[in-house]
Amino acid sequence: MNNQINNVCDKCGLEANRKTCLLKYGNEPMMKKFHTSTYHKGKCNCCGEETSITETRDFFYPRFDLFNIPDEALLQLRSDIDRMAYRETKIRLEKLKNKYAKIS
Ligand SMILES: [Zn+2]
Repeated sequence: MNNQINNVCDKCGLEANRKTCLLKYGNEPMMKKFHTSTYHKGKCNCCGEETSITETRDFFYPRFDLFNIPDEALLQLRSDIDRMAYRETKIRLEKLKNKYAKIS
């Protein structure tokens, strides 16, 4: 889906960046959009409106597949991923410790 979206309106770009940051960092974006954008008239690849559109680059190439997922669900997923990663890191670090302890 993402690779067909190249030009979007501000509304869609900002929301996609916001949802992407909630999932990626568990927070609202620190930068809402790139400081300079070149707009032209056209059809937003996301909402389909004829309006001013610009490249998805201006919103840091966000995901456009998260719009219908509630913020709370994205934040919950983020914290679950962190918890899983923490557990996995602990296990793998123990294995590394054991592996290198035997060598020396
Ligand atoms: Zn749009």
